[in-house]
Amino acid sequence: MEIKIADAIMYGRLKEYKSRSIMIKDLIVGMLPKAREILDFGDDFGISIRCIRPKSFIAIDGVYSDSRKVLEINPRVDTLNSVIQTFAHELVHAEQFKQGRLKSDFADVYKQEPIWVWEDKLQVSPSTIKDFESYRKLPWEVEAFDRQNKITEELFYSYQAAGGDSMAKLVDKYATI
Ligand SMILES: [Zn+2]
Repeated sequence: MEIKIADAIMYGRLKEYKSRSIMIKDLIVGMLPKAREILDFGDDFGISIRCIRPKSFIAIDGVYSDSRKVLEINPRVDTLNSVIQTFAHELVHAEQFKQGRLKSDFADVYKQEPIWVWEDKLQVSPSTIKDFESYRKLPWEVEAFDRQNKITEELFYSYQAAGGDSMAKLVDKYATI
C-alpha cells in the first residue's frame, strides 16, 4: 500500500506541515499491520497525506474515497490523537466498502450526482445532507464514530508494544513540530 505526502507539503507552499506529515506517515507505516488485524479493509487503495480543503459544513480531517481509491489524512489537524482517530475512522469506511455494506453509485449519469447505498436498502443523495447533525446520523458515520476511539487505543498500544514510543510521548512530539 503506497503512502504519499503531497508535493506542496514536501517541496512547496505547505512546508510548515512537513515534519508533522513525515511523523504521520511513519506512524501509519508502523500501525498498518495491527490495523489489518482488527479491520477488514482491502489493499487496493493508497494513503495520501495532504491539506484537504473543506467544501462544505463538514471540517475535513480525513476522507475515504472508494471511487478514487484513496484514504486521505489532513496534517492540519491539531492533535495527534485526532489524526489517528481520523485514520481509524476512514479505515472503518474502507472496511464498509470492501464488505459491500456501503456503496456509492451514480444515480443519474447525466447529472453525475452520486448516491450512497447502505446495506442495499437505504439510499442517500449527498446533496440532501445539509448540516452536521444529519451527516452525523448517517448509519455508516454512526458506526465509524462509534468504533474509532477503541481502534485508536489499540493502534497506539500495539505500536508501543512493538518497541515504539508511548502515546504520551508521541502526542507531545506532534505538538512541538
Ligand atoms: Zn466518516
